[in-house]
Amino acid sequence: MKELKKEEKDFLLSSIRDIPDFPKPGIVFKDITTLLNNKEAFSLLMEHLEERYKDYNLDFIAGIESRGFIFGAALATRLGIGFIPVRKKGKLPYTTVSEKYSLEYGYDEIEIHIDAFRKEEGAKVLLIDDLIATGGTAEAAVKLINKIHENVVEVCFIINLKFLNGEAKLKKLTNVYSVLEIE
Ligand code: AMP
Repeated sequence: MKELKKEEKDFLLSSIRDIPDFPKPGIVFKDITTLLNNKEAFSLLMEHLEERYKDYNLDFIAGIESRGFIFGAALATRLGIGFIPVRKKGKLPYTTVSEKYSLEYGYDEIEIHIDAFRKEEGAKVLLIDDLIATGGTAEAAVKLINKIHENVVEVCFIINLKFLNGEAKLKKLTNVYSVLEIE
């Protein structure tokens, strides 16, 4: 499996913009729109992900709303497989299955369509999102997909905010891969 070189990682990191105090004071928001509109950066990233996952024999990619849709759908077409949107509660029109997860205050809920995996039980699924912070969203998404008897073989993030140690809870459930790590 081809690893990214340090210069390539540095290039990708430099293409991501930091927005301080968004959406609230104290948060440094990692803005990936400046990676997406940089054709060299976006292509390098997608070529790397294609190379990594081409021999996993995946059946589906599931992407977490909303930036997981961008990377997940692009990778699914490269691999010639289907894509499933994992959405926030109330957005999907057909019958859904859902999973709640805790936030700092209260809870949130994510959903997929009950037939999202076309009734293929045990399908090999890669779950993808742009960033892992506390890991709560991705943990709920893995539980949701496993709940309907599919098999999340790995969760992939473009950026891991390592200092929050979100991947520890996910590693109890499945493999975790992050392209870029921020210490
Ligand atoms: P968490 O459940 O805490 O791992 O949060 C992950 C979700 O929140 C992902 O969908 C991210 O896109 C988003 N997110 C959390 N923190 C940030 C951040 N600093 N910059 C950009 N997105 C973030």
